[in-house]
Amino acid sequence: MTLLLRAGLLVTGTGDEVESGWLLVRDGMIVQVGSGAAPVADEVVSEPNCVAMPGLVNAHDHMYQWATRGYTPDGTLFEWLRSLYPVWARIDAEAVRCAARAAMARLLLSGCTLSTDHHYVFPAGRPDIFEALVEAARDLGLRFHPCRGSMSLGESKGGLPPDSVVEDEDAILAATEEAIRRHHDPKPGSMCRVVVAPCSPFSVTPQLMRDSAELARRHGVRLHTHVAETLDEERFCIGRFGRRPVELMEDLGWTGDDVWYAHGIHLNDSEVGRIAGAKTGIAHCPSSNMRLGAGACRVEDLVRAGARVGLGVDGSASNEDASLVGEVHQALLLARVRAAILGREDAPRALDSRGAWRLATQGGAECLGRDDCGALQAGRCADVAFYRVDDLVHAGVEDVVAGLALAAPARAQTVVVNGRVVVRESRLLTGDEDAIAKEIAATSARLRA
Ligand SMILES: [Zn+2]
Repeated sequence: MTLLLRAGLLVTGTGDEVESGWLLVRDGMIVQVGSGAAPVADEVVSEPNCVAMPGLVNAHDHMYQWATRGYTPDGTLFEWLRSLYPVWARIDAEAVRCAARAAMARLLLSGCTLSTDHHYVFPAGRPDIFEALVEAARDLGLRFHPCRGSMSLGESKGGLPPDSVVEDEDAILAATEEAIRRHHDPKPGSMCRVVVAPCSPFSVTPQLMRDSAELARRHGVRLHTHVAETLDEERFCIGRFGRRPVELMEDLGWTGDDVWYAHGIHLNDSEVGRIAGAKTGIAHCPSSNMRLGAGACRVEDLVRAGARVGLGVDGSASNEDASLVGEVHQALLLARVRAAILGREDAPRALDSRGAWRLATQGGAECLGRDDCGALQAGRCADVAFYRVDDLVHAGVEDVVAGLALAAPARAQTVVVNGRVVVRESRLLTGDEDAIAKEIAATSARLRA
């Protein structure tokens, strides 16, 4: 079976923007890219009024949080976390399944084709939570990198989370190894790769960080955690360990091209250089960072230093949405505001539109270790997002690639993952959106009780 995808403009992500471009797809992979006259195919999707982009890559998320949106809307990270931990202590596999289906549906509708999920809440006696995430992605057709996260440092030992939501460290390591054994597929074109991801310096012990890194490297899987998100976290690390967050991670072996951090906001110049030099990735989450008043990531400095920078929606409890194309828009504007606040006259050039799209595609693929995703090229995965440019918002815009970042579309028109059409005419084909919304309302109400 072959699939031909045609677009008014094809943005390859490798520097080319091809008018009347097309992609020929076989077995989930792009086999040919061209323009004008196209080869015959078994199935054709033609979107002459769309720009086709490489499918967007979500580099940081907590999908279970779709069931706990709108709590502590004006709190700092630590205030917000303290209010939510007792609610999260009530989650089970069914709640996670409903929340993940909602988060994934929203991601797919925004043009996201590859997403990670950092799941770190495993209340005692609630089995199959990790499986619920993997199954939701399989059902909806999303390429997925679930992180087996963890929390082990409860309040009684000086951590932030209550003891009721932390796990025993030996149990964490055993469950992580089991998740890798059951679900990790390292092959090119893989639809599921497992990541090892203790939650943060203030919710796990240094020993668990070390053991997790050792375990991940033994299995050849990637490492992910939260680093340098807020000044509260920086104070915690200096107070408890006498080290800044990045220094602590370096001490614990958490640096290198198999590691990516969420946020990386409060970095000094030396840390920016060290992160870039080590090829450690950063998942920038602009909406969540603004929602929590956490700060603004030094995206421009990191990119200039050669760091791998991707974009994430972060958990929807600190975003209230999961539109990755919306994050392209937010990243673009936030980088300019940050430069303007620093007094820079060239602030509008801190991040340009194509640079913002690059974060959401190639940058995210680099964070997740996917050299087969993030661009539209023969030999890469057939993951493509089509955005209309003939609608009320975008019709007549001079530079359509800039226009789609400056005025983020609410939805993609068509989305293809692994050569399968999963969104058409801005509707999800792999799930019933209204049913998913009903289920998440019921689940959110149950957790609130
Ligand atoms: Zn996060």
